[in-house]
Amino acid sequence: MTHKIAIITGAARGIGLATTKIFLENDWLVAMIDRDEEELQKVATELTGTLPIGCDVSMPAKVDEMVAKVYSTFGRIDALVNNAGLAYFKPLEETDFDCWRTIMATNLDGVFLCSQAAIPALKESRGAIVNIASISALRASTLRVAYGTSKAAVVHLTKQLAIELGDYGVRANCVSPGPVKTQLAAAVHSPEIIKAYYDGIPLNRSATERDIAETIYFLCSEKASFVTGQMIAVDGGFDASGIGLP
Ligand code: NAD
Repeated sequence: MTHKIAIITGAARGIGLATTKIFLENDWLVAMIDRDEEELQKVATELTGTLPIGCDVSMPAKVDEMVAKVYSTFGRIDALVNNAGLAYFKPLEETDFDCWRTIMATNLDGVFLCSQAAIPALKESRGAIVNIASISALRASTLRVAYGTSKAAVVHLTKQLAIELGDYGVRANCVSPGPVKTQLAAAVHSPEIIKAYYDGIPLNRSATERDIAETIYFLCSEKASFVTGQMIAVDGGFDASGIGLP
């Protein structure tokens, strides 16, 4: 049996880990990428069919090395899930340039670098890219100048990838999660933000990691073979409700 191969970044925990599990359940093999090497090795030993690689997605040479390792190990790459991300919630006047750059380096440069490095292999397989943006990409919020701007750029970069790679049969889409109770969210969401958020979600709950991961998998699968250049908000209806972001 020929397995399909996915690269999933930010795979050591949260949405990336849940996404890894869904790909494995569907008989894919997964290159799990994370800069937290210790946590990555720990979780990967429990999961058959994974290749854990420590890599900071904001570092061009490391990304090239990582993609080369995946390709030389498996001989193909069928999907790239650009999930690694960092959050920082401050207004513009309290966002110093180092913080701005740190957020852009992982959330935006990381998507650019991993996509660029994987494109030759994805052209060969007529594969798929799924980028993880956020509902913070969709509306301005006083706390999210760096995070929201980085994610809005990811939505646009997804469209660029879709039109540039369409001739090669490579699809590119993105998923914008609403709030998910992960370590990333815990680090930036105050109790007030959490309450305001959940009060605004028509489905009356936060997302699980698996809610997001299922949509990511769908977009990488043959079932989405004519879907490209799209952004799907997996947010329980938050965006549709029109309520402002806390
Ligand atoms: P998380 O913090 O639980 O996991 C993120 C993982 O990415 C971590 O394992 C971390 O080590 C890794 N990572 C961070 N920077 C990296 C880098 N430069 N190189 C390699 N690995 C790196 O976060 P999560 O909540 O699972 O978020 C996953 C994605 O979903 C992110 O892009 C995030 O912005 C997005 N998102 C999350 C939420 C939410 O509410 N949790 C909402 C919208 C969007």
